[in-house]
Amino acid sequence: MISLSGRGPAWVAAATQAGPWIFEGHLRATGSFDQRCLMCGRQDLRLTFEVSTDTLEAICDICENCLSKEAMVLGPQGPVLHGQELRHHLREMAVRVMQRTCREVLRDLLAITSDSRLPEAVVYFDRNAQLSPRHAATLFLALSSARPDVDPRIFEVQMRSIEHRQEFGRLSEREKLAVWPGLSPTVRKRLIAFGLALKRYAQSQGTRTKPGRGQLVWNGATSNFGAGAAG
Ligand SMILES: [Zn+2]
Repeated sequence: MISLSGRGPAWVAAATQAGPWIFEGHLRATGSFDQRCLMCGRQDLRLTFEVSTDTLEAICDICENCLSKEAMVLGPQGPVLHGQELRHHLREMAVRVMQRTCREVLRDLLAITSDSRLPEAVVYFDRNAQLSPRHAATLFLALSSARPDVDPRIFEVQMRSIEHRQEFGRLSEREKLAVWPGLSPTVRKRLIAFGLALKRYAQSQGTRTKPGRGQLVWNGATSNFGAGAAG
């Protein structure tokens, strides 16, 4: 048996040559980016796949990218997938699990939050698997007080269309601050360029500063929920 204690390039080579990965349908995912791939060492992953081989002593967590390069058996006796078919299967499964995690977070939040706008945001996510900027603001503000352990980036915020960007532009400063951590750097830059971002970015080009008083660091992103932030 190959021991998991000897991780590193030699372990990766041995584990890969030991035969195709066996996947029995289990993924590891939470409401955060806290998973690590045993093969490439990448951290801060949204999810990993629990796989084994005939000669591994334990199940190990591998990222979608690493797994898509090897052959994989579905279950101990299942069909072997590789190439395009494997990548498609992994992506489909990842999307399903990511959406399920989001729904679980929303269900928990509904049970402990009294914000009357939250049910509408939940229905919107159920229908679209994404959030409009307005619903994202409602949800992220609720998360920041009730479930700060959840990373808002697990939810996708719609910002491609002009309508959605304008909707973001109409949010209060406090709501924009709540949505900001859930946006990718590319989307943030675009909003700054359109003059729709937070007031603090009106002239500077979004340089990050150390959090000051009244600011909240939320999984690496800074948001300001202090009294002075309401706009
Ligand atoms: Zn990996």
